[in-house]
Amino acid sequence: MTLEKIILEILESRDTTNPTEVRQYCLDGYGLRVERVMDISEDDALKEGCVGTPCNHGSEWACTDCMNTGYIEPPSLDFMGMWDQINKKRGYSWYDNPYAWVIDYKILETGGNK
Ligand SMILES: [Zn+2]
Repeated sequence: MTLEKIILEILESRDTTNPTEVRQYCLDGYGLRVERVMDISEDDALKEGCVGTPCNHGSEWACTDCMNTGYIEPPSLDFMGMWDQINKKRGYSWYDNPYAWVIDYKILETGGNK
């Protein structure tokens, strides 16, 4: 089985993804890895649609609200809540820190059949 087929099977198993749309536009520059769910980066949490609470400190160079991270609450905190909402009842809570598949891919075209 190729990596492309493995990724398609994982994407197709997600409740929120239409398999037809996946086949149409997601398989360029893809990658697959495993990591602990608590190891998610802020960039990856943003890619999951979690925005956190950005800090609007402008040009202030020593912001005590966000400690210069740019966030009052980081996107990963939103991701933690989203993760538990979806997976806790399945026995994979955030605090159990389970392994998770991480799928990176580029969108080739948007399709337009949503
Ligand atoms: Zn700030």
